[in-house]
Amino acid sequence: MSQAANPYSRLMGIYREVALLESCSSLLQWDQETFMPGRGVDHRAEQLALLAGLAHRRFTDPLVGELLAACENGPAAPGPAESVNLREIRRKYDKKTRLPCRLVEELAQTTTQAHPAWVEARKKSDFGSFSPWLKKIVALKREQAQALGWQDSPYDPLVDDFEPGETESSLSAIFSELCRGLAPLIEKIADSGRDPDTSFLSGIYPVKRQQEFGRDAAAACGFDFSSGRLDEVVHPFCTGIGPGDTRITASFDSSDFCRAFFGILHEAGHGMYDQGLDPEHYGAPLGEAVSVGLHESQSRIWENFVGLSRPFWEHFLPRARAAFPEALGRVSLDSFLRAVNRVAPSFIRIEADELTYNLHVILRFELESLLISGELDPAEVPAAWNERFRQLLGVEVPDDRRGCLQDTHWSNGIFGYFPTYCLGNLYAAQFFAKARRDIPGLDSSFARGSFSDLLAWLRENIHCHGMRFRAGELVEKATGKPLSTELLLAYLQEKYTALYNL
Ligand code: ZN
Repeated sequence: MSQAANPYSRLMGIYREVALLESCSSLLQWDQETFMPGRGVDHRAEQLALLAGLAHRRFTDPLVGELLAACENGPAAPGPAESVNLREIRRKYDKKTRLPCRLVEELAQTTTQAHPAWVEARKKSDFGSFSPWLKKIVALKREQAQALGWQDSPYDPLVDDFEPGETESSLSAIFSELCRGLAPLIEKIADSGRDPDTSFLSGIYPVKRQQEFGRDAAAACGFDFSSGRLDEVVHPFCTGIGPGDTRITASFDSSDFCRAFFGILHEAGHGMYDQGLDPEHYGAPLGEAVSVGLHESQSRIWENFVGLSRPFWEHFLPRARAAFPEALGRVSLDSFLRAVNRVAPSFIRIEADELTYNLHVILRFELESLLISGELDPAEVPAAWNERFRQLLGVEVPDDRRGCLQDTHWSNGIFGYFPTYCLGNLYAAQFFAKARRDIPGLDSSFARGSFSDLLAWLRENIHCHGMRFRAGELVEKATGKPLSTELLLAYLQEKYTALYNL
């Protein structure tokens, strides 16, 4: 049989073309956020719509369904690598072809209009003006869940878009356990009465020096700048364009150290995952990241588990003092560590500390699963939000801008994504604990500014596998245990007991 007639090769050829089309869109989107002149926006929208249409039509062509069926029912059983690719292409194909075109277009159109409405509503802290949009989006997402099909909860097929294998019930079990474990620690910290001085984290931090310092730290961690770049944007992100080209971004503020620096470590963590994917498998599921939550675990390892640790700053604080003498010249290692790790309930998720961050995410997970199941009326979101926020974080939400209007996800029609932020922390804790056991002297190598052993461990145990395993399986394979809250809670307990002298 000739190569051209082999259904598997033909299928993989189409899938790769779609990946290339999507990588062209990623590059155009990156350019839009970084360098595109403002007046180019209409033309860019047309370019992106064309590419998205081409990719969608190519992938949902009935030919793809025929080739998949031919591979699945062929005379010879597929090998292990082929099986992974077929499993994932089947999953995506079914999801894309089950949605009626009318629904896809209505969702795109509604969210395009809802997004500016949300921007305006947030600015004025006026939920009322966004409420009809939220109602419409929730109705469409419920319709989407119906079209995709579900057994236990209509939220399940939405989670599956981001975290295949997880469900509302699996998430709710692990998140309630996490809540129960976090509450006493957060309470102890509050009861300690210690509130670290963080004043020096705002001060004179010239942007140019922040760029150099952040870039040096990302490079020391292992982000490969010969296959990547760092540029400035308003809302930071990382985008893997393809083999040899991974782009990270940061947002700088000349009087704030943390925002850009920890943002760079976070995005570099995402970037190192993309750089570690096997280029041989580019354009196939075996060359793609496992899930959004798993991707987030890689950013969290570098941002929190490494970047907020004592050994990391044993190496970097002297350098930070030299780079920012006006703000950090006389700050001790202990004061610095206490400041960057300060725990306090706050209203905005993306500004939250390592402990309360999880509670912010769990709140959104609870509300969005109730919205999708129909148990929560979208008009009641502010009341439900504020009440749950009080229970979880013990503070009164002052207004909707700092409450239910703060995140962009729902206005974009993104439901089922929030849980991945918390899963990322749980996966990260479990991977990091195992890496520390496997690599003797990891802390002292960090203190010497060497991070290559950790990156090598992540490459070998996580990055190189692509989508071979589902996130849960990969956690078990890499760490020898199924995912649990144990290691995240143990890490937080140990770290904050020391920092706060509990
Ligand atoms: Zn991230």
